Amino acid sequence: MKEKKTVSFSKNSTNIFFHILTNCNLSCRHCYINKKQHGKKTLPLETINAWLDAFVGKSEIANVIFLGGEPTLHPDLSLAIKHAKKTGFKSVTIDTNGYLFNGILSKIEPGEVDYISFSLDGASKRTNDMLRGKGSHDKCILGIKEAVSKGFKTSLIYTVSSANIDELGMIEDLLFDLGVGRFFIQVIGIRGRTAKGGSSGIFPETPQVSRQKWLDIIPATAEKIARRDITVTYPKVFLNPKDGFECAGVVADNYFIFPNGRVYRCPLCEDYPIHSVEFEENRLVKTGKINETDLFGLSIPEGCVMNKLIQPGNLGYKKDGTPEYKIACCLLKEEIPGSR
Ligand code: SF4
Ligand code: SF4
Repeated sequence: MKEKKTVSFSKNSTNIFFHILTNCNLSCRHCYINKKQHGKKTLPLETINAWLDAFVGKSEIANVIFLGGEPTLHPDLSLAIKHAKKTGFKSVTIDTNGYLFNGILSKIEPGEVDYISFSLDGASKRTNDMLRGKGSHDKCILGIKEAVSKGFKTSLIYTVSSANIDELGMIEDLLFDLGVGRFFIQVIGIRGRTAKGGSSGIFPETPQVSRQKWLDIIPATAEKIARRDITVTYPKVFLNPKDGFECAGVVADNYFIFPNGRVYRCPLCEDYPIHSVEFEENRLVKTGKINETDLFGLSIPEGCVMNKLIQPGNLGYKKDGTPEYKIACCLLKEEIPGSR
């Protein structure tokens, strides 16, 4: 059995989550993109490259993840990838819904991206397509097959909610048969479309999963999948009251970049204009007060402050009013390594 480890935060590693556009061909019921906050712009290649260059001093320790919207809708994604590779970033990943527009796989080589990460939110066509749109399950599987056949390393992201948690265990054979090397379990956040109620009617009662159900299903399923030599990563979510709590906004180095120039250090803040950094004439500058950093240092018995503000439905209290557990930083992960 592989050893499970908590992937602790490190200032010696930087993650650049780069939304190069917000446009998408799909309209997922739980989409976290908020065009009101982040606009509808598609960044020109020159700007993408200039913003990547703002991190050049730490490129050796920085992982770049190209996102959208759907990043393959960007006609110059391949050129942005080549620029990132040439600049010497530690790793380059594309997060895609699987439609792989603009012939992206014929414009880049497997050596130019470390992973292509696909999103599927149900083992069955029925559940995935209910959440992500008709035909999206088949298209994602086809995309993975094409990427694997061309020699690209692939991963799969599954956003767990009350609508699909019961199918998580069914994904194991699919991952193995497709040759997917890494499996990322994420937890649904109450932001974007989910926060606006755009997904009502899809989720039984609430999109969030109870602590008991999460603990009953997630760690055991992750361990089972990892036994097939697939690296599995999942968010810790629930901490015991005595566990130490850390906010990645304080102790880690993450950047969530949007095409209107906003840069957040915490993804839970993305529905609000409280970003702490922004691009001004292609330079990364700090914003004025008040911003997200004013929240990061606050200490509350429930753990993550932003969680309590925007998605308190996952908290539980004892009769005396004290929290039963803490909510971890959404970026704190458990990882069980595989060897693919
Ligand atoms: S969740 Fe991703 S794939 Fe789905 S609509 Fe939003 S950006 Fe597109
Ligand atoms: S999710 Fe919570 S703990 Fe993590 S960076 Fe944001 S505010 Fe900090």
